[in-house]
Amino acid sequence: MSWPVVRMLKSFKRTLRRLFSKPVTVHYPEETSSVSERFRGRIVLDMEACIGCTLCSQACPNGTDCMNVVPGRSQGNNKRGLWPRVNIVQCMYCGLCEEVCPTDAIFLTPEFRTSRTDRAKFDYDSIQLSKTESELALEGQKELEGGL
Ligand code: SF4
Ligand code: SF4
Repeated sequence: MSWPVVRMLKSFKRTLRRLFSKPVTVHYPEETSSVSERFRGRIVLDMEACIGCTLCSQACPNGTDCMNVVPGRSQGNNKRGLWPRVNIVQCMYCGLCEEVCPTDAIFLTPEFRTSRTDRAKFDYDSIQLSKTESELALEGQKELEGGL
């Protein structure tokens, strides 16, 4: 048998096998597939643990366009009142900020759903960083309903 015919038969066999196996796709957004344990997604900040040391912003390879530490209110352990701010569109999810943080206050999560209708809303302050995407989406929804 010639080589192209063998390849065609192999492809045909693979397609036939797929017909009787479980689909690899899911009905998003009702269903989501699981992500790898090592997946690095949306950054979260534990405001209780942050001491405002600025190490995270110094380690960020994307510079101040991505991560900044900005002055705010001193609160709890953060006597200096310096809080991380992250533009999650500029972030490349390298995880260096998490690695250098001495108190494990900042970390990456498996969350990957971070869509917005306004680009300016991708710039998260410390309070937004401390909330989950579902909490932020709920707040956005309430804001929208309030404006109608
Ligand atoms: S994950 Fe990397 S790119 Fe993103 S804010 Fe942290 S250090 Fe910067
Ligand atoms: S998140 Fe961590 S590294 Fe960044 S300022 Fe707070 S304590 Fe320092």
